[in-house]
Amino acid sequence: MEEFQEGTQKRWIHLRNILERPGPFSRPEYVPSPEILEFLLTSCKVLIIGAGGLGCELLKDLAMMGFRHLHIIDMDVIDLSNLNRQFLFRHKDIGLPKAEVAAKYVNARVQGCQVVPHYCPIQDRSEGFYQQFHVIVCGLDSVPARRWINGMVVSLLCYDEDGVLDQSSVIPLVDGGTEGFKGNARVIVPGVTACIECTLDLYPPQVTYPLCTIANTPRLPEHCIEYVKVAQWPKDNPFGVDLDGDDAQHLTWVHEKAVERATQFNIKGVTYRLVQGVVKNIIPAVASTNAVIAAVCATEVFKIASTSLVPLNNFMIFNDIDGIYTYIYEAERKVDCTVCSNIPQLVTVEDPSKMKLKDLVELLRESPKFQMKSPGLTTTVNGTNKTLYMSTIGAIEKMTKGNLTKSLLELGLKDGQELMVADTTTPNAIIVKLAFKQSDTEMK
Ligand SMILES: [Zn+2]
Repeated sequence: MEEFQEGTQKRWIHLRNILERPGPFSRPEYVPSPEILEFLLTSCKVLIIGAGGLGCELLKDLAMMGFRHLHIIDMDVIDLSNLNRQFLFRHKDIGLPKAEVAAKYVNARVQGCQVVPHYCPIQDRSEGFYQQFHVIVCGLDSVPARRWINGMVVSLLCYDEDGVLDQSSVIPLVDGGTEGFKGNARVIVPGVTACIECTLDLYPPQVTYPLCTIANTPRLPEHCIEYVKVAQWPKDNPFGVDLDGDDAQHLTWVHEKAVERATQFNIKGVTYRLVQGVVKNIIPAVASTNAVIAAVCATEVFKIASTSLVPLNNFMIFNDIDGIYTYIYEAERKVDCTVCSNIPQLVTVEDPSKMKLKDLVELLRESPKFQMKSPGLTTTVNGTNKTLYMSTIGAIEKMTKGNLTKSLLELGLKDGQELMVADTTTPNAIIVKLAFKQSDTEMK
């Protein structure tokens, strides 16, 4: 027993050096104590979202750092193409759920670690599930998933009657992202610092596609093209050379094969032009970028969970295309942020007799502020709930499709009308308030 304790003490000596002594970067209010290490080892719960390139790194980093009550959530299974960087997986694991294999590997390897895997989409877990964590760290490759978890942590915030934030309801979110040789890491303290939605304009339309998606569950014409490019071309090797994005013969071959694959998955829209765009625009996943960003994120989790050190404020970008470059700045909160501001979102309507419901849906999808996927709109007209449009449920889509071509006036909507807008990018509906420009003239 004594021997074990001795071993344990040596094992965490480096953490003790940081947690049991003050230092120049300590938080001013931090009181060094052995209890903090005790807390990290025995009760601190951290959720890792994503078990891919970043997720494997994060899980390894946090487990080695002393965190034991780790949960990891991911809806994907392991693909051959993951193995070069998702190092917790082996060839024999192909086809198995990433979260489960990663958890099993780390539990077997790191003494005392108890990783709990969740093989499902993040949307399948409730508020109660997310509430149990001290910190949540994301290694995601999808913007909608980031927006969803951001909406979730913001929705967990509690305010008292005077509007003062209850600090115990705050679950900090550490978010990492990589694209080729570029990456970023950020710390989000919901209700306090800028959230994902505050800085939504930072995310350009996605041009790269996760390999697991294109191999197993293609949904877009781009996924089919990408599959032919990275899997079928090397296998069939039709011209005996590497694929050249400027060679018309090559592109024609990719086009034909991509159309075949698209037909197989009932996907429309594979054109020669799109093939050109996708073939020339691939950004591969780079293992070293993932390692750097995950290490930064894990360090931030440690700073936040231990309360010992001042966390990143609040956005770091990393780039090692031409040498190594890092830059930190403070992303600012948006006063009227759709998620964290508690202010209904005003939509100005020039002429409600001309603006059709489909124009409003289009605006919710296209405007940089909303960037929704398939918004569903409901409201209250004369005291009764009315579904204006919903595309996600077939039967309701059919029933409400006719509304799309009606003007806002024809639908009985008034100036100041509040619409509840649901979308896959948010766990809770957003309130959109209509502001008619016409209303001045009507009143005269
Ligand atoms: Zn915000």
